[in-house]
Amino acid sequence: MASYVVGHSIPDSDSICGAISLAHLKSELGEDCYPARNGDLNPESAFILKKFGIAAPELKKSFANEQVYLVDHSDLSQSPEDIKSATILGIVDHHKLGDITTDSPLECWIRPVGCSNTIIKQMYDYYDVEIPVQIAGIMLCAILSDTVIFKSPTCTNEDKKAAKELAKIAGIDDYKALGMEMFKVKSDIENATPKELVFRDYKDFDMSGKKIGVGQLEVVDLSLFDDKKEALFKELKSIKNESNRDSVLLLLTDIMEEGSLLLAVSEDEGIIEGALGAKLENGEAWLPKVLSRKKQVIPFLERAFGKK
Ligand code: MG
Ligand code: MG
Ligand code: MG
Repeated sequence: MASYVVGHSIPDSDSICGAISLAHLKSELGEDCYPARNGDLNPESAFILKKFGIAAPELKKSFANEQVYLVDHSDLSQSPEDIKSATILGIVDHHKLGDITTDSPLECWIRPVGCSNTIIKQMYDYYDVEIPVQIAGIMLCAILSDTVIFKSPTCTNEDKKAAKELAKIAGIDDYKALGMEMFKVKSDIENATPKELVFRDYKDFDMSGKKIGVGQLEVVDLSLFDDKKEALFKELKSIKNESNRDSVLLLLTDIMEEGSLLLAVSEDEGIIEGALGAKLENGEAWLPKVLSRKKQVIPFLERAFGKK
């Protein structure tokens, strides 16, 4: 029976490239395994796949009665809707452990590194499978993206080692330049609607029964948003109201200044302020040194809202 690899909804480059790289590894190991995606490609992922001449994974929203590997998440709120009717063969992830459970034993590769593709590189090494040049290229890009070119506090020596080895396989000398090229593509926000911008890299979380949404945009220059903030706030408000969310946050991350401008709409601004140690003024606060949603934002919100 065929199996699929799928990343989180609103896929980022780690989810897209991870589906491809893990499905290739599984195929090499004799499984009939295919990459899938649970949403549209973002501009950065489209750039990466084009650059290395790799086709996008199949868009697949339903996994009922299928066999599936999950990459880059283990939260039900970020999984395909009918994931509970699928057989989960394995999880490869680098986030906090989520709320997905299984009926049967599964393969788990969950490690606190900066990127799922770092773990997948380690899996290739473990099984002694050669990584094709193009796949090495996209895995490298996923690591550069998730670790913000090694600047994120989530980045570990294992990520740097994996990136270095993948760059060698892919024949890329200046991989930091490749990273900057990617982040410039990511910074292209001119032709996007406010809604597209908020949802470009967006995740919902269940915190003690409250639905909290956190989007993030990583750019090389925050002034790009100067004339867009009002429209973004309007969008955050309507996203909050339309699905009964408690709070909707957007992190505008400046990767050169190494910090994030937080835009927040919330039922209780005080909780957000307490969690992130910042004072909101007109819904805005500058969070110095904050680059990582996973490590520097979500755990503090979860603590403030209380665990389930
Ligand atoms: Mg991700
Ligand atoms: Mg990731
Ligand atoms: Mg990210």
